[in-house]
Amino acid sequence: MKKRKILIPEPKSSFLRVRCPDCENEQIIFSHPSTVVRCLVCGRVLAEPTGGKGKIYAIIITEYH
Ligand SMILES: [Zn+2]
Repeated sequence: MKKRKILIPEPKSSFLRVRCPDCENEQIIFSHPSTVVRCLVCGRVLAEPTGGKGKIYAIIITEYH
């Protein structure tokens, strides 16, 4: 077997394109973060880990599955 198995962390996980409510910066974040995710521009907390789906404080624009 030469094919490598791709590891999927969570079956229902996805990526989110979000907008920071403070500075309107857009960035891609993981829907199930393991650490606090901050805005790359102003440092506002955009998502917090909860053990499952993260708590999202940003405006979700698009969800990628
Ligand atoms: Zn920001």
